[in-house]
Amino acid sequence: MTPPALLQDTLGRPLRDLRISVTDRCNFRCVYCMPKEVFGKDFQFLDRSALLSFEEIERVCRIFRSLGIEKVRLTGGEPLVRRNLEVLIAKLAAIEGLDLTLTTNGSLLALKAARLKEAGLKRVTVSLDSLDDTVFRAMNDVDFPVERVLAGIDAAAAAGLAPIKVNMVVKRGVNDASIVPMARFFRDRGHIVRFIEYMDVGHSNGWRMDDVLSAAEIVQRIDRELPLEPADAHYRGEVAQRWRYRDGSGEIGVIASVTQAFCRDCTRARLSAEGQIYTCLFATAGHDLRALLRSGASDDELREFIAQVWRGRGDRYSEIRGEHSARLQKIEMSYIGG
Ligand code: SAM
Repeated sequence: MTPPALLQDTLGRPLRDLRISVTDRCNFRCVYCMPKEVFGKDFQFLDRSALLSFEEIERVCRIFRSLGIEKVRLTGGEPLVRRNLEVLIAKLAAIEGLDLTLTTNGSLLALKAARLKEAGLKRVTVSLDSLDDTVFRAMNDVDFPVERVLAGIDAAAAAGLAPIKVNMVVKRGVNDASIVPMARFFRDRGHIVRFIEYMDVGHSNGWRMDDVLSAAEIVQRIDRELPLEPADAHYRGEVAQRWRYRDGSGEIGVIASVTQAFCRDCTRARLSAEGQIYTCLFATAGHDLRALLRSGASDDELREFIAQVWRGRGDRYSEIRGEHSARLQKIEMSYIGG
């Protein structure tokens, strides 16, 4: 077995986190992620039989854990649309030393928060792009109201799924007027908003650099009204840069993956819903773990496969991003897991 401490990629990056997409389906059609023109009625989502079963996911997770990962984030698609997700959560929560969390659009959270907590989930990140109902309904493109996401966030807080983080993707001219109201609203409730630069993931969202509002500008706009100061990272490779309010009333994060790439600190592997391993959110191809899983491979063989994939990793897409790379046929975020 490969000793975890020695497992590094070609750029010396250790393997620390695993993001697992449990489904490629979502009940939202966010215009920047799963636009209706592409993900319409005729779109062929994965067949149920193609998805990794909960038992397969648990097995893979235990093997990743033996290779040194410390954190697992369940995502998708929308993870809460996968039936009986709490059964998977209970299996993963039983793996010793693993920090388990989940990213959701919050639509089903009011219904499920208590059950998720009971199953062993520690905390959640909820995506919400605006407090302005008209803007939010237009962005999720299924006319979903802000109020129901807020009810989900309240239910998560009541269940003790804390700290709660709220993800807001900022698209210039679309929801940037919501930056300060979001900061103020969630500061008052003790939740941490993380402002995300709009990224060129996938190839269906028609990304243009002009649509990106930089993290620096986001910080500037908040700082003008709610003064901020930089805070230290919790650990090397933390995705969000932390800023705290000077009056001690809380903090925000900004994720600057476009304007200040953080590839050199990236310790994340991704597992798609059908068991492909990706070493980069912007990948154009994965590594088929499911084929090996379903061909009767032993744990040692699976471990060696994963270790080989990681050792061979040399990607640093965000650092070399350019007009040409933005047009590559990259895997969609809803498939690979955000
Ligand atoms: N359905 C869940 C949710 O809404 O959080 C999990 C999956 S979603 C793909 C994960 C995160 O990725 C969300 O916060 C979403 O806003 C973000 N995201 C999707 N497309 C993005 C893009 N082009 N740029 C930046 N963030 C994006």
